[in-house]
Amino acid sequence: MSEPLEDLVIASANPGKLAEFQQLLGPLGFRVQPQSAFGVTDVEETGLTFVENAILKARAVSRASGLPALADDSGLAVDALNGAPGIYSARYAQAVGDRDTRDRANNDKLLEALREVPEGDRGARYWCVLVYLRHADDPVPLIVQRDWAGDILAHPRGEGGFGYDPLFWVPESAMSAGELSGDEKNRLSHRGRALQALVEQLQA
Ligand code: IMP
Repeated sequence: MSEPLEDLVIASANPGKLAEFQQLLGPLGFRVQPQSAFGVTDVEETGLTFVENAILKARAVSRASGLPALADDSGLAVDALNGAPGIYSARYAQAVGDRDTRDRANNDKLLEALREVPEGDRGARYWCVLVYLRHADDPVPLIVQRDWAGDILAHPRGEGGFGYDPLFWVPESAMSAGELSGDEKNRLSHRGRALQALVEQLQA
């Protein structure tokens, strides 16, 4: 087995994201650790853009761990809702409870917001911004931004993925993101493609 290339702390408390990062970065030789290993629970996301929030998260986690950190800020932007829920995707319905409960409440709110919107007008994009900081005061972060276009279904389909995946129709696969295998989602998704691009930059 080859030596790890580099320690990397993932600035996220979201198990769905952590699993996706582990799956992509582990085989490339990165020793991936969650922010919880350094006592970081949640970092306040006070920015107004994905990139600002990703920098805030990466900086806080790099400072707490003393290691390079990778943060992802991501969300769903729905055309018919002028880009909402956007940076507020995780807390769209402002529900309390565990992650599944909050995801379900967010999905219900999205379905309700689009109740009158016909099939052809339900376009949406997931966005993912990745920020890699070599150290907490790194003045030149690596930043990658990728999107994934699809449509919002009228009813959930599939049990896989997380968040809005059961409602996100992927035209090129003719399935919802919740019906895709983990590998297939990583190949197509905003996060998978952003991470591939970031890894190319890290290895360059
Ligand atoms: P963050 O943890 O603040 O970046 O919030 C991201 C939120 O956007 C998640 O909680 C989901 O609601 C949504 N989201 C981002 N990426 C995905 C994805 O790949 N599938 C489903 N939902 C996603």
